Amino acid sequence: MSNWKKMCNFAADFKINTMYTKEIDNYLRKFGFREFKPKAVLFDMDGVLYNSMPNHAYSWHNSMASFGIEMSEADAYAYEGMRGVETIKKIVKEQRGIEISDEESQRMYDEKSRIFATRPQAEIMEGVIDLQGKIKSYGMKIVVVTGSGQHSLLEKLTHDFSGLIEPGMIVSSFDVTRGKPHPMPYLKGMEKAGVEPWEAIVVENAPLGVRAAVAARIFTVAVNSGPLPDEILSDEGANLVFDRMTDFDKVFPALVESHISTI
Ligand code: MG
Repeated sequence: MSNWKKMCNFAADFKINTMYTKEIDNYLRKFGFREFKPKAVLFDMDGVLYNSMPNHAYSWHNSMASFGIEMSEADAYAYEGMRGVETIKKIVKEQRGIEISDEESQRMYDEKSRIFATRPQAEIMEGVIDLQGKIKSYGMKIVVVTGSGQHSLLEKLTHDFSGLIEPGMIVSSFDVTRGKPHPMPYLKGMEKAGVEPWEAIVVENAPLGVRAAVAARIFTVAVNSGPLPDEILSDEGANLVFDRMTDFDKVFPALVESHISTI
């Protein structure tokens, strides 16, 4: 490599490291923490581990249409992360002005799940296996924090990510009484990993998921794998926003190695 090229690479790395140092510093100041020392990465599932959001959006739109409820595919992205039953109750109230029971909402959600099961299986998100390998090589823990309550999906997860994701390190809708955007799922995720907020990183794709992670005071990385504008994710408080998982994978070492403290 020529000296000039080496110098350019050094300048690029310096710029990246400076950028993260600034973001970490902003994060520490916002929450009054002294040190950022990540020991665990908490991953959302849909739109993060799997490219499953197009299937969810299709199933949401078509199932709700069969009940006379309007839910565009873009709405499905905007509500992503919230528990299905809660999403349906909210939309029915907005469109019909009535409160429906949990049972009725569950029946409607079952139809969404039925349609979802007919869709082709979603691919594992490009770059996420490499990223998780890096996380493990740093001796860090991996936790999955999802609003999903579909048993088949949760079983598939430990199979597809064998050696990376353990069954005891998954927080699903069965583990919490409040779903995202409430911080409870991420608080539970930290409990499973045995870490404090300044020792964790969240990887999310959804605005309500980012809101939940920020409410749990965790450094939040958004990977915008859907059609929503980046600003929605940064406005919710995401510390960094990437277009693709492969982009985050490339810079992950720089992020975890830029340990800084405000002491
Ligand atoms: Mg998601």
